[in-house]
Amino acid sequence: TRMPLIAGNWKMNLDHLQAVAFVQKLHWTLKDAGHDHSTVEVAVFPPFTDLRTVQTLLDADKIPFALGAQDLSTHDSGAYTGEISGAFLSKLDVRYVIIGHSERREYHAEGDDVVAAKVQAALRHGLVPVICVGETSEDLEKFGASAVPVSQLRAALDGVAADADIVVAYEPVWAIGSGQAATPEQAQDVCAKLRDVVAEALDADAAARTRVLYGGSVKAANIAGFMREPDVDGALVGGASLLVDEFSSIIRFQK
Ligand code: 13P
Repeated sequence: TRMPLIAGNWKMNLDHLQAVAFVQKLHWTLKDAGHDHSTVEVAVFPPFTDLRTVQTLLDADKIPFALGAQDLSTHDSGAYTGEISGAFLSKLDVRYVIIGHSERREYHAEGDDVVAAKVQAALRHGLVPVICVGETSEDLEKFGASAVPVSQLRAALDGVAADADIVVAYEPVWAIGSGQAATPEQAQDVCAKLRDVVAEALDADAAARTRVLYGGSVKAANIAGFMREPDVDGALVGGASLLVDEFSSIIRFQK
């Protein structure tokens, strides 16, 4: 009974003008295909500078996509040059915010403490954190697939209330942008363990309702295999979310 979520993380792609053209095309492609938005939720995660423009477009054209941001500050306001407050995101009808993406962990040295503080910041402002966890290929060799993501998720959920609305994304670092996706069985195994962490840290109800996504080289040709797994509730898509036809086929994985 968990509504599948197909989320497009644009990363640092598409300026606000390109964003308008892209969102309109995606909307019309899905509409022409007869996509039923009550069966699969669609979310787009543009760069910060696009958010206001995309919000206005979704609203004006009644496009039923959820809006997400790619990051937020641990702080709510103040002398933090270059940072973006969750309060500002909420005011733009942003529903989701990606936290702890491996690119932030790697290029911006975000550790588990920063990730946990960002989860708290998101929840303070009524945003749904999309908490990303995943092992590098080195971790995989040393510790197996699940140890690092499990420990990252435990740290991120420290102090989170049992009734919190969250999304978890399992993104093995070796699968991101590599064309080498995990197998559905590998994804299922880790996603099930991450759901157990939600049960421990929050409670059984939370584990039953929380969506656990897979991310890493998802495309139209492999999405159905992931979605057949009982503990995979959707996908966090990078490169393929920038291609209208490809992303629309991913959204329409049941067809
Ligand atoms: P790719 O789909 O390009 O592998 O990226 C996955 C990702 O990092 C989504 O957040």
